[in-house]
Amino acid sequence: MTFDSLNLIEPILRALQTEGYTTPTPIQQQSIPVVLAGKDLLGCAQTGTGKTAAFAIPVIQLLSQQKNFTQGIKALILTPTRELAIQIDESFAAYGRHTSIRHAVIFGGVSQLPQTQALKRGVDVLIATPGRLLDLMQQGYINLQQLQLFVLDEADRMLDMGFIHDVKKVIAKLPSKRQTLFFSATMPPEIAGLANSILQEPVKVEV
Ligand code: AMP
Repeated sequence: MTFDSLNLIEPILRALQTEGYTTPTPIQQQSIPVVLAGKDLLGCAQTGTGKTAAFAIPVIQLLSQQKNFTQGIKALILTPTRELAIQIDESFAAYGRHTSIRHAVIFGGVSQLPQTQALKRGVDVLIATPGRLLDLMQQGYINLQQLQLFVLDEADRMLDMGFIHDVKKVIAKLPSKRQTLFFSATMPPEIAGLANSILQEPVKVEV
């Protein structure tokens, strides 16, 4: 199996070549067609499996292919830690380098000014940790009315780190008509319940 056989657009294939990726990992092989088909996804996968590219590649492709490209945040990636947020942002930079998709990352523990300045310049894909996202939403810097895609990354760690209440608060503010991708390494009952309440007829992918 190659990336060519996943029907990816040329600007993404070229970026993957630059990254030195030749073969999609199992989570990528299974997830990319599901996301490109517009379906909700429940992915059970750990870090190190190529999970980030499994959602970042099809999100970039879906947004790049839109004819009526509106202003506003079209995809939100929620992840528990600053380190993961930065890694995901770097992945969007790498895989989207030949597209015009604009991405930004926000997380707590640092000045919010560079983050709000990036938001004002315009963002298509926002990568965020829950606390800083809620904070900037409450201050009026973030409008999610144009949101089409929501990715919840490492849901079980959100629970372990005590962020699940914040995550639910964010979800309550999202447009209900959207595509949702839900990733978790484990499925404790509370996480399974959350997945069940926010996904619509999800395709389950396990690696
Ligand atoms: P992740 O599970 O998303 O944290 O990815 C783990 C590592 O695998 C990252 O360093 C990626 O750059 C790398 N990676 C992801 N997909 C591929 C691929 N198809 N081929 C080679 N390396 C990859």
